[in-house]
Amino acid sequence: MKAGHSPTYLTKIAPSRRSLLLFAISSVCIRLGDNIVDAKEAEAPPKPNNLISPEAALQRLMEGNDRYVQGVSRRDDFKRERPVLVDGQNPYAAVLSCADSRVAPELVFGSGLGDLFVCRLAGNFANDDTLASMEYAVAVLNTPLILVLGHDHCGAIDATIKSLHDNKPPPGHISSLVAALAPAVEVSRQQTGDTSAEATRQNVIDNVNKLKSTGPILNAAVEQNRLKVVGGLYRLDTGRVDLLS
Ligand SMILES: [Zn+2]
Repeated sequence: MKAGHSPTYLTKIAPSRRSLLLFAISSVCIRLGDNIVDAKEAEAPPKPNNLISPEAALQRLMEGNDRYVQGVSRRDDFKRERPVLVDGQNPYAAVLSCADSRVAPELVFGSGLGDLFVCRLAGNFANDDTLASMEYAVAVLNTPLILVLGHDHCGAIDATIKSLHDNKPPPGHISSLVAALAPAVEVSRQQTGDTSAEATRQNVIDNVNKLKSTGPILNAAVEQNRLKVVGGLYRLDTGRVDLLS
């Protein structure tokens, strides 16, 4: 091998090592109570318009949703955006949403490339992996807003309701979803009204609270007013996202 040339496998893993290093550095800075961020990310954000407050980020999300509801979403120029984002990203919001094919955050909020950091899994709940992803968004990418997005007629919620009602676990790994969603469903079963709708709402509330309170990264960012965590419900018929207070 020639001097200065890395083996192919090293080249392939280099970005992830860099990201992990930045993550570690940023985490240390947060533990120290600083606002120090990686110099490259701070000096040259690829999308300067995304350097906004948590409140402004929420307003931009909802304005994008308004356009989507009205059917006047802007057409993004992906060809122009791709090269700008090769060396980095600074999304203005992170979204924890369901994997449901009818709920696509980039479309729902009329966002372009590099705007939204999206974690999707059936039932939109925060497990260790989604927590870690959100910590990365906040600590390394300086994302100022996390939205937990539930939706009408969620199959994961309904499967959990059925499993608890029948006292029978679902097949395969679906049981892990049921275990995660069971607390919200149990609360909703104590209430009058539509159990599925209540459980969906409760699940969003529970996960907003979990993200806000999980240390050491997310809770510190909330306390320092660098991060806002909010919940919303996507309406399948209108496309409207109703924020939960
Ligand atoms: Zn769902």
